[in-house]
Amino acid sequence: MMMQSRRMVLQGLVASSVVIGFDLVDREWVTAANATSRSIQIPGLDGVLYIDDATRRAVADDFGHIIHRQPLAVLQPGSVEDIVRLIRFARQYRIRVAARGQGHSCYGQSQVEAGVVIDLSSLNQIHAIGSDRVEVDAGVLWSQLLRATLPQGLTPPVLTDYLELSIGGTLSVGGIGGASHRYGVQVDNVLSLQVVTGEGKLETCSRYQNRELFQAVLAGLGQCAIIVRATIRLIPAATQVRVFQLFYDNLTNFTYDQTLLISDRRFQYVEGQIVPRDGGGWRYLLEAASFYTPPALPNERLLLIGLNYIRGQELIEDKSYFDFLNRLAPTVEFLKSIGVWSYPHPWINLFIPGTAVVNYIDQLVATLTPADTGQSPVLLYPVNTSKFKLPLFRVPREPIAFLLAILRTAVPPDAATVRRLVADNRRLFESNRDLGGYRYPVDAIPFSRSDWRQHFQPFWGRFVSAKRRFDPHQILTPGQGIF
Ligand SMILES: Cc1cc2nc3c(=O)[nH]c(=O)nc-3n(C[C@H](O)[C@H](O)[C@H](O)COP(=O)(O)OP(=O)(O)OC[C@H]3O[C@@H](n4cnc5c(N)ncnc54)[C@H](O)[C@@H]3O)c2cc1C
Repeated sequence: MMMQSRRMVLQGLVASSVVIGFDLVDREWVTAANATSRSIQIPGLDGVLYIDDATRRAVADDFGHIIHRQPLAVLQPGSVEDIVRLIRFARQYRIRVAARGQGHSCYGQSQVEAGVVIDLSSLNQIHAIGSDRVEVDAGVLWSQLLRATLPQGLTPPVLTDYLELSIGGTLSVGGIGGASHRYGVQVDNVLSLQVVTGEGKLETCSRYQNRELFQAVLAGLGQCAIIVRATIRLIPAATQVRVFQLFYDNLTNFTYDQTLLISDRRFQYVEGQIVPRDGGGWRYLLEAASFYTPPALPNERLLLIGLNYIRGQELIEDKSYFDFLNRLAPTVEFLKSIGVWSYPHPWINLFIPGTAVVNYIDQLVATLTPADTGQSPVLLYPVNTSKFKLPLFRVPREPIAFLLAILRTAVPPDAATVRRLVADNRRLFESNRDLGGYRYPVDAIPFSRSDWRQHFQPFWGRFVSAKRRFDPHQILTPGQGIF
């Protein structure tokens, strides 16, 4: 069966772990050293297929450090064609495949046991920046994209709080941030996509072309296709940002003011946090930002008028637009330097219906302790759900929903703490679900197939038919546990 010339197979592969075939009986990749007559030859690649332990172990982990599933191999594609070739091969021999952006999800979403991980970080070119759009590879990071568009005075409308996430990774989940109350999530700002389906077909899709595929891929958790390129909307960027931090003791006042701000749109960015109060308990921090380009200046009096924050405690500072968006970078560097960044992260991210948020959060903070968060942030901010246009991005059926993100670090970083926090995530998920709330699925919540069915209602039927059509052999992204 070894029909292709050895030179072609070796092309682009690393000599120390040269994979030349796949053993159908043992279900393992083979090198020249252990190839047998029953080995099926793999297609020639422009990139590298790794089978060494260190590379496979690295992708059997993620930012959560809770789930570990080891693949048989890791593809670093040298081209889009490599992904087409690999998926066609995998489809034929029923090998499961997972795309990995930066592995920043928390519960094994980008992992695959005994399959192949496609590490998109090697596809990282910015192809073209126009006056209102940019065309990029899926492995590009948002920080990289922003550094390229800002010199042209342009920015993506919505950015996540942390910019070292891949474009493919956030477009497969949604991509929410402080500007979402104006522009929806990142998937709402995608003009078109190039994807490789589970059948190994390279397709272009948009609202006007292959719409079913477009809607099944954006926030589609990698189930129907792998995103390889995206064309993303750009808008004019301001150069400066005035950042306001306003403190509240009263939850009702806090959520009322946040809701006011996203309704009257006086700020470009609105988020908020539940923060520890000196002496115990919790209080609330409203974070809002006004973007501007001198000589124009923000009018502080008008921006703060009618708000009920605690006077005298407000913090106001100016930053460059890039430094504001990249504001987590110094904290992340610090956490890495003290080793805490590599602790387990049993995060929970929920969308709570606006009408239920005060009761829900009141009950949460009555029992929440710093041991439950590991001193990590707890985000709470509202969004206008009418801005979300993609069916698979699931939010409550109310005009306002609040994102609650308990960005837990497990301290101490042991299995018992992780178990306790993951069980707590499940409890919090269920009580929110019973109120009409949803989960934002980047986090660590045990989820059954029937949970997923309920999550995607009333679009579950459409999602199932898209899966049947675009990934009929169900090889893509099993780590989500949906199909
Ligand atoms: C510090 C930090 C801050 C964060 N802040 C925010 C925030 O402000 N807003 C927000 O919305 N999210 C935020 N997140 C969550 C983040 O958006 C998701 O975890 C996202 O999936 C991470 O991108 P990634 O490139 O690491 O994806 P991965 O974790 O590698 O992948 C996530 C999922 O997408 C699939 N996937 C990856 N690439 C592709 C592709 N090209 N095509 C198809 N499927 C693919 C994977 O198989 C997996 O199922 C944050 C995460 C961290 C760690």
